[in-house]
Amino acid sequence: MKKSVRKAVIAGNWKMNNTPAQTTELINAMKPLVAQADCDVVLCVPFIDIPAAVEAAKGSNIKIGAENVHFKASGAYTGEVSAEMLKAAGVEYVVIGHSERRTYFGETDQTVNLRSLAALNAGLKAIICVGETLEQRELGYTETLLKFQTKMALTNVKEEQLDNVIIAYEPVWAIGTGVTATADQADEGNGFVRAAIAEAYGAEAAEKVTVQYGGSMNDGNADELLSKVNVDGGLIGGASLKADKFAAIVKAASK
Ligand code: PEP
Repeated sequence: MKKSVRKAVIAGNWKMNNTPAQTTELINAMKPLVAQADCDVVLCVPFIDIPAAVEAAKGSNIKIGAENVHFKASGAYTGEVSAEMLKAAGVEYVVIGHSERRTYFGETDQTVNLRSLAALNAGLKAIICVGETLEQRELGYTETLLKFQTKMALTNVKEEQLDNVIIAYEPVWAIGTGVTATADQADEGNGFVRAAIAEAYGAEAAEKVTVQYGGSMNDGNADELLSKVNVDGGLIGGASLKADKFAAIVKAASK
């Protein structure tokens, strides 16, 4: 099975940017620019922007995602938001285990797994991030680490739930730095992720899973990155804050 049968997904990750009013303005600007997309188009936005984003995206091909989810259904977890709450608000996707959360907020492979299970069990699509630091790459651990993170994230995930799993390979050294992995590095990293899924679920199941690349993808490099057989889309930070740049990446994924 080849890339052409997998669904390309271009997802923006706004991080901690945009007020609700700015959200409405930006999505209104994006809507006509991405209306012809031949890929899934997702915007993952801060919790506070979700109602405005869902409202602005109504009737368009833009789907809304969150940037995190808690693993408990409800209870005394001040500041957290559950999968059920996200679903009720109109959210369809959620980013889990972004390297910024792993680095600054104590996210571990275990909490990534718990959040993934909570999201998938609630019927959300989980965009699970994995990636090596520059030091890990230079020590030669990239394959081992990507396979370990992928398998840990998917522990107890049932094969039929893989339909709702997207893995984003995001080399930590390429996120928000302007340094992009070469297309071959992205393809290789995504290939390690797919091999890990194959080891856990079999090759046939692994061939169907969307594996994105993320890390300074932009309108200038998207064509080359997305041309690679294992790169099924992108998780886009900085370039998702500009309607024209994001739309250009969507266009590249629609070829
Ligand atoms: C990201 O936030 O997941 C990301 C890849 O950011 P950037 O595109 O800015 O590197």
